[in-house]
Amino acid sequence: MNIILLGPPGAGKGTQARHLVETRNMIQLSTGDMLREARTSGTEMGRIVADVMDSGQLVTDEIVIGLIREKLEGDRAGGFIFDGFPRTLPQADALAELLAAMGEKLDAVIEMQVDDAALVARITGRFTCGDCGEVYHDVTHRPKVDGVCDKCGGTNMKRRADDNEDSLRQRLMEYYKKTSPLIGYYYAKGQLRTVDGLAEIDDVQKAIAAILD
Ligand code: ADP
Ligand code: ADP
Ligand code: ZN
Repeated sequence: MNIILLGPPGAGKGTQARHLVETRNMIQLSTGDMLREARTSGTEMGRIVADVMDSGQLVTDEIVIGLIREKLEGDRAGGFIFDGFPRTLPQADALAELLAAMGEKLDAVIEMQVDDAALVARITGRFTCGDCGEVYHDVTHRPKVDGVCDKCGGTNMKRRADDNEDSLRQRLMEYYKKTSPLIGYYYAKGQLRTVDGLAEIDDVQKAIAAILD
């Protein structure tokens, strides 16, 4: 199975993708994570994307399509979860071509609906384990012991530089202008499924499972 998790920043895509990795042996392909890795690598590409990401704008299609292309050449396991990709119509077209060339297809595009007011609280309260990537929240999803990761025991919690209200506003603008047209694009292909992203994490998990089973 290959699926896309589609939704604005903070909708819960990463949280749900990690659950699917654990329960269904799927492979999470997060272009945001790939780009954050690229920027710490000290490469030319890393330097170019750092400024763009911090401003809340989108990195060029060419760069992210290149990153995805490389990952698709690896292990397919239980299928791919595209998390934060595609974000533009050209990226969606490129993904369709890449999958077709591999003899694969998209099984579902799951739109996670969350209203903007909730996103501010989601984004400003987000932190992740720097060791295993588990996603937490100051209010809705705290680790059992403060500062200690439930999954790996790590104590290296991190907050993203772009997880502030100003950057979120810019990211939302990009989402509505460039990414939301994908909702119509996949609806027209009969692939769009919608879940209520405002529900509790467990309930969103169940709604997604119901689509995949
Ligand atoms: P969020 O978790 O808030 O949805 P991501 O971690 O997916 O954010 O992305 C962080 C930043 O990385 C984006 O604001 C954008 O600059 C860049 N980025 C990630 N994925 C893409 C993509 N598919 N196309 C262009 N830029 C991207
Ligand atoms: P995205 O990958 O779409 O940007 P994340 O999965 O990183 O979103 O979630 C953003 C923040 O909201 C995180 O702090 C996460 O713990 C929290 N969160 C995710 N899903 C829910 C939910 N259903 N209810 C409440 N908080 C959630
Ligand atoms: Zn951890």
